Amino acid sequence: MFLGTSSKHIESTRVVIIGAGNVGATCAFSLLIQGIASEIVLIDRDQKKSEGEVMDLEHGASFAPHARVWAGDYADCKGADVVVITAGAKQKPGQSRLELVEINTKITSEIVKNIRRYTKQAVILMVANPLDITTYIATKTAGFPWGQVFGTGTTLDSSRFRYLLAQSMNVDPESVGAYLLGEHGDSSVPVYSHVNVMGEALPLSKKEMQKAYENAKRAAYEVIERKGATFYAIALAVARIARAILYDENHVFVASVLLRGEYGINDVCLSVPVVVGRGGVKKIVAVTLSAEEKKRLQKSVAIMKENIKN
Ligand code: NAD
Repeated sequence: MFLGTSSKHIESTRVVIIGAGNVGATCAFSLLIQGIASEIVLIDRDQKKSEGEVMDLEHGASFAPHARVWAGDYADCKGADVVVITAGAKQKPGQSRLELVEINTKITSEIVKNIRRYTKQAVILMVANPLDITTYIATKTAGFPWGQVFGTGTTLDSSRFRYLLAQSMNVDPESVGAYLLGEHGDSSVPVYSHVNVMGEALPLSKKEMQKAYENAKRAAYEVIERKGATFYAIALAVARIARAILYDENHVFVASVLLRGEYGINDVCLSVPVVVGRGGVKKIVAVTLSAEEKKRLQKSVAIMKENIKN
């Protein structure tokens, strides 16, 4: 459509993605094809890699919603609405997320210091693993207001859980209410007491739900074993979260944020239900957990505290 000179100014929405590897590049693709952001910037310490990804994305411009995409540098964080951090080492087959702690916490703190030089307004969304530890480091390094830094957390794990439960009932995963709390990793907590379709408990035994949870927990290992990395599902999750931020949706996700006494947890980042809109996490939703769920959540806390201490 031709827009005359009197057309109203349309505000741009900018998402900067740091790390143009499997996850970062697929996040850019997911944002682009869904028309979520008008500006997408890829930054990587390997400049050629980010340039190559941008060229490949741009070559599809005739078939996708319009967006400016470029390979940038940290100065582009000025004016960004969301900065997504995917840079870091990824799990090798059989390796746990926590085994990446040393290398990825160093990378995260270095990146966040660079971001801070150019913005104190952008929401920082952590994706690099071990997610809850990198989110903690990013939160402390940024020193932004509470909620402006958070991590995708168990958004992805919950999506896997919903998919597996839905499959066993032959319904659409979107129709299944189910989520995991706690660590994005091996100590995640399945909230069996809240699994539902239209508010009704699923006609599944505890054993069947446990099987779905075990498979959801193993999912990343299974995918990495076969193709070396996971990236489509997390990229869809990142795009969905970015949309909630850019459009101030106040959507509830299970995401990792610094807890300050909520659920009896202090000074660690773990996933709980949170309201996400402009500015990041706006508040934590308190849900009633069973005694077993509370106990498992405390186990996640102990693992996080131990890792933070180290
Ligand atoms: P990858 O190796 O394909 O890409 C990582 C990229 O980061 C590389 O291009 C590398 O050059 C870049 N990089 C490294 N250090 C950097 C720095 N200091 N500054 C800028 N760029 C830097 O890995 P991947 O498959 O994209 O995975 C990235 C991270 O995402 C891993 O930690 C992985 O475990 C994590 N991940 C998280 C989830 C989740 O649910 N949160 C899901 C999948 C993967």
